[in-house]
Amino acid sequence: MPSNSTTNGTNPLLQPSGLRDQAIPFHLIKTEHYVPALQSAITAAKEQCELIKAHKAPTFENTIVALEHLSETVDRICGVYFNLFSAEANEAHQALAQEISPLLSGFASDITLDSVLFQKVDLIYQNRKQLGLTGEDLVLVEKKRLDFVRNGALLSAENKEKLRKVDQELSVLGPQFSENVLKATNSFELWINDRKDLDGLPEHAIEAAHIAAQQKLKLQNKPADANMWLITLHGPSLIPFLTYAKNRTLREKLWRASSSKAFKGDFDNSSVVLKIINLKHERAGLLGYKNYAEYVLQERMAKTSQTVFSFLDTLLEPSKKAAARDLEEVKQFRKSLEGVDEIKPWDFAFYSEQLKEKKYSFNEEELRPYFKLETVIEGVFKHAEKLYQLTFKPIDGIPTYHADVKTFEVFEKGQYIGLFYMDFFPRETKKGGAWMTNYREQGLWGSDVMRPHVSIVCNFTKPTPTKPSLLSYDEVLTLFHEFGHALHGLLSRCKYRSLAGTNVYWDFVELPSQIMENWVKEKEGLDLFAQHFETGAKIPAELVTKIKTASKFQAGWMSLRQLSFCWLDMNWYTTDPKQIADVDSFETQVGLRTRLLEKEPGTNSSCSFGHIFGGGYAAGYYSYKWAEVLDADAFEYFKEKGLFNEEVATKFKQSILSRGGTAHPMELYKEFRGREPDPNSLLRRDGLI
Ligand SMILES: [Zn+2]
Repeated sequence: MPSNSTTNGTNPLLQPSGLRDQAIPFHLIKTEHYVPALQSAITAAKEQCELIKAHKAPTFENTIVALEHLSETVDRICGVYFNLFSAEANEAHQALAQEISPLLSGFASDITLDSVLFQKVDLIYQNRKQLGLTGEDLVLVEKKRLDFVRNGALLSAENKEKLRKVDQELSVLGPQFSENVLKATNSFELWINDRKDLDGLPEHAIEAAHIAAQQKLKLQNKPADANMWLITLHGPSLIPFLTYAKNRTLREKLWRASSSKAFKGDFDNSSVVLKIINLKHERAGLLGYKNYAEYVLQERMAKTSQTVFSFLDTLLEPSKKAAARDLEEVKQFRKSLEGVDEIKPWDFAFYSEQLKEKKYSFNEEELRPYFKLETVIEGVFKHAEKLYQLTFKPIDGIPTYHADVKTFEVFEKGQYIGLFYMDFFPRETKKGGAWMTNYREQGLWGSDVMRPHVSIVCNFTKPTPTKPSLLSYDEVLTLFHEFGHALHGLLSRCKYRSLAGTNVYWDFVELPSQIMENWVKEKEGLDLFAQHFETGAKIPAELVTKIKTASKFQAGWMSLRQLSFCWLDMNWYTTDPKQIADVDSFETQVGLRTRLLEKEPGTNSSCSFGHIFGGGYAAGYYSYKWAEVLDADAFEYFKEKGLFNEEVATKFKQSILSRGGTAHPMELYKEFRGREPDPNSLLRRDGLI
């Protein structure tokens, strides 16, 4: 029986919350609220749609802007549902995706496949030059029409039906893929009952493993056991183990589990992958594209898969050469220690870390004491203040979906510009990785242009009873990265939400995030915040120098690793699925070009490649590399004029961070930089040329 609060009158997803800036009332939302709220919102939107269609004389306002308003409630509900699907989903919440996704897909199809509606949109589009539309209005018309076309508006009735079916099927496969990865991640447990098996691990990792074990035992109603430790596939547990554990057998076991996640076994994604690529290929074909990548790239800076492949090619050779040298060095290093030069994938991080320590007398763990989470948060806020005049004030009384979530009000030169949520620690109900998202996009909602509600979600090292959360340097980079996305959302000054904030071409979206990482590689940036959590001492200059020198360590290897994912992704979405026999042999064959270590039988990365099968990065993983060129080039400008130079920062804010997708990214970039990006800036930064 549905509870009373699922009826429209009291459903918290359908009411103004009455909270600060209409924040989401997480404390009131229950699983059973989503479907009724969504059904009611869809019904209302369809009624709205009939009104748009009934206009005898379509205008920009009564058609295009009305369409922008059409899905407001639907979008708000889905925002909450899908953000929580990634950040805080129990089984019931996850399972609901199988109901919600087809509902949404059906709704979207009803709109974009409606020929009467499309005629109105098309009429405005054809007359756009005579209507005196300029700037953002003009971009909105073009975007709306393109959305219709890319979702089947120009197809025959028969093909429209085919497309609708394809979209229905795809709508449940993405969430199913993610659910399998999460379940596979949670299903693996490495229990250790001999302290010796933890030799080599830093203290904090041992303590965390001990706490994880005790919590799990408690959950299973078993007595606490001081001699039990638990290692899992969640980043903060997995990475230290692969990097430091001396027990090679256990490293191998863990690496194999991590590298075969959702491949075979109970949560196998093999068939999901094949279904996804077949359906996406079919979708692209119906719409007249050669393959799914061509379909995707129409709305990207890169434009064609040809451009992406030649971009990857340019980086591949220098990266591969450098990576081969990196590998050889690690082999020789192991040989010097143990007389054996064999390096398996589960050895690479382990020996690399020791090699790095020897080469630069630098241990990554030395850094953690300077990166207490709270200190790093203050640091990232200070950056935002120095660069963009922002202040972040903690705020009470904003409901959250989990006690770990922190909330802030954000001000620009004293003026309120948005709400900010931060959620840092791993949970079984949370996907791996880190991301930024919106609970409300900046832009027009109803009659008002509203400020955004932005959130970042990470999986960082947890505090323990004896130690606060001390981040690894990588985690610090991740925090700055996601914070960069958050700035893109928070500083948005657009009119229409579908063009605001991070709604930009995906090979541009990583520029605001990746550029932020650069400040943490500079003394001036680190000096703003990095200080010892016990003594308060500033991070020593020599340690900063070591970070800088060591940051080029294995740059070729890292670059090749990223390129191998880009390469795999592009191959999945440019190959005719008829040529693909099965997931594993395809991955093996594609990997030949980018692989230096032999592929281990039984492992597979496609089945857990959430970006391209569970998220929106299909034929888009290259965006990270693409944007690295942009951020390397953009940061050279800061370095030239000063890391916190007001003029450059203001330009970056005004030309890029505040503009969303209201103009072509290359135009925005040129406005900021005065020229197009220099393609060699990245190779220069990585020391590869
Ligand atoms: Zn990012």
